Amino acid sequence: AREEGGDMAARYRSHMSSDAAQRLATEHALHRALAQQEFVLHYQPQVCLKTGRILGVEALIRWQDPHFGLVPPGRFIPIAEETGLIVPITEWVLATACAQAGSWQRAGMPGITMAVNISARLFNHGDLLGIVDHALMAAGLEARFLEIEITEGVIMRDLDHTTDLLRELRRRGVRASVDDFGTGYCALGYLRDFPLDVVKIDRSFVQRLGADVRDEAVTATIIQIAHTFALHVVAEGAETASQVRRLVALDCDALQGYYFSRPVPAEECSRLLRNPQPF
Ligand code: C2E
Ligand code: CA
Ligand code: CA
Ligand code: CA
Repeated sequence: AREEGGDMAARYRSHMSSDAAQRLATEHALHRALAQQEFVLHYQPQVCLKTGRILGVEALIRWQDPHFGLVPPGRFIPIAEETGLIVPITEWVLATACAQAGSWQRAGMPGITMAVNISARLFNHGDLLGIVDHALMAAGLEARFLEIEITEGVIMRDLDHTTDLLRELRRRGVRASVDDFGTGYCALGYLRDFPLDVVKIDRSFVQRLGADVRDEAVTATIIQIAHTFALHVVAEGAETASQVRRLVALDCDALQGYYFSRPVPAEECSRLLRNPQPF
């Protein structure tokens, strides 16, 4: 009977698309990765365009797979999101990122903002507040140094829920940013209605600056309106000096992109933070 069962399983597997089998294998490996602590965070600086100082960093997860090496998040975050593993993974990310920010401060480095990506599932269905409170407490980090990043799609999914949750975060002093702004369906008016602190302009706009006048007009409008609502504007993904010049001319506040730095491991980021003029 056992053998038969094995046969059935094998037959079932062979009928699954290789895509589904791949997903199952990844899910299994992600469980192991969590248990074996195979995830690492890299940090990408956000640089003030007026002073050149590092105002904050975004924590970006990588998976140090023993066989495949460093796996980028695009290859496993969507599967983690589908399977629910994103919740314990984000718990780890928040705890690790807050602990890192706390230890940088205790080492005498300037207080910078630590930005963490929050997925749809956790924002809409999980105990985000409980996880955030726990991470801050365990790290001994003041709430104002933590910033959560959510995309337009997450913001728009359930407007009442979004309002409640963002209010609770604001009450604690945690900052909130809209990630990938311009790619989804978030009307500019929502920037006024929700308690948000930062707008991150999507890389796709930034990379066409100077090449496409319509993109430039959209970027200029986003920056102006965001400023009207007293929001801080961070441009994502600037790679060239001319893109940076355009963003300065458009009055963008800060920049996160390869032009200044790729996401780097914690030790490398410490060196940047210790240097008052890193770029
Ligand atoms: P994102 O939140 O939009 O993060 C920015 C991505 O743009 C990062 O890719 C970063 O390396 C890349 N980037 C920054 N500057 C430049 C540039 O100048 N040029 C180019 N070509 N790329 C640039 P990464 O680290 O591969 O992350 C991809 C996505 O994975 C993130 O996009 C985010 O959606 C997701 N992700 C990463 N870490 C986490 C996490 O801890 N939790 C969750 N839920 N999602 C995460
Ligand atoms: Ca992000
Ligand atoms: Ca982004
Ligand atoms: Ca993105």
